[in-house]
Amino acid sequence: MASNDAEQQSGSRGTAADRIASVEAFQVAWRPGDAPGRRTAIVRVRTEGGLTGYGEASPMMGGEHSLLVVRDFAASLVGADPFDQAVIFDRLLHRYIKLGPEGAVTGALAALDIALWDIKGKALGLPIYKLLGGAWRTKLPFYASIGGNAERSVDDVVRVVEKRWLAETPAAIKIRWDGDRTRQDYDIPGDIAKARAVRKLVGDAFPLAFDANNQYSIGGAIRVGRALEDLGYVWFEEPVQHYDVRGMGEVAQRLDITVSAAEQTYTTQALVQIIEAGVRMVQPDIVKMGGITGLMQCAAICFAHGVELVPHQTQPGIGHVANLHVLATLMHNTKPAEFADPDDRMHVAFENPPIPQDGFFTVPDGPGLGLRIRDDEIDRRRS
Ligand code: CA
Repeated sequence: MASNDAEQQSGSRGTAADRIASVEAFQVAWRPGDAPGRRTAIVRVRTEGGLTGYGEASPMMGGEHSLLVVRDFAASLVGADPFDQAVIFDRLLHRYIKLGPEGAVTGALAALDIALWDIKGKALGLPIYKLLGGAWRTKLPFYASIGGNAERSVDDVVRVVEKRWLAETPAAIKIRWDGDRTRQDYDIPGDIAKARAVRKLVGDAFPLAFDANNQYSIGGAIRVGRALEDLGYVWFEEPVQHYDVRGMGEVAQRLDITVSAAEQTYTTQALVQIIEAGVRMVQPDIVKMGGITGLMQCAAICFAHGVELVPHQTQPGIGHVANLHVLATLMHNTKPAEFADPDDRMHVAFENPPIPQDGFFTVPDGPGLGLRIRDDEIDRRRS
């Protein structure tokens, strides 16, 4: 069965194509005791010709569920042509579709897709953004994405925001709530007080965003959204539960502030549904829903619908750099790139770690992702 699949997946380019020799899937704990969400779910593909491609799955719950899926199909890819990445993607998606195409499976396929694009770029000696049609820019401004504010006092929110604002010189700041998803509307006056305090800290002109992390009812979201409009916030993210697509659309259409959603959207069809519901800024995540191939499909959908594409991103590692390659190719790149979780724990794995300088990330211009990854440092931390 596995070898038949491999033969079917083999390309017919008529050239002596390099072939996939192995597919590994493992978690990396950067530091002892790293919580699952701080680890990285890595997929590493090697070819018979000696190329190595790296991909990353969503780190949600440590990515273990996606890694299980990759391990399940890994042997079937041996012998396949890495240039067949889109055919491989759709074949595997439909093989595993009864698991539900949302989350673990699409995270697995995203990691594989990124690794195969990395190999394609290395085989051709070109950065991925060139293979995607070229870059409008290779320096990208970022916004500081600052989580955990539901539990903080107003003063602590201001203190945490001020620290990153001064340290990173971001182009914008987003305050995330990360609250209890089983409750709604439990501290709206406190939430508005925090939003107001942050506005006072940074002044009237600085771009701010508010990420509710799904904690409001529709009515609660309208109330908070009106306050954010008065405070000059630029966007209001995931005000209601992501699975309430109709409700998300209603909030988006009733408010003047731009409402964003879709970081928890895993297929192109689901993306279209949330746009049809009324959301006009969407945030699919490259490591959750299709890798580079999937995010480029999202870009086409957004362009056709006149919708802003502002991808969600968590860890500043492999997925982050894959995301930068796609952002470089977007004509309408309306918002800065998300920069969450900025610390140096991953830097040991890269000769050229993705670190912002003077308010910008620079897309690496080496072959593939352009990341020079230290295999030995990765292997030392794998679990
Ligand atoms: Ca978010």
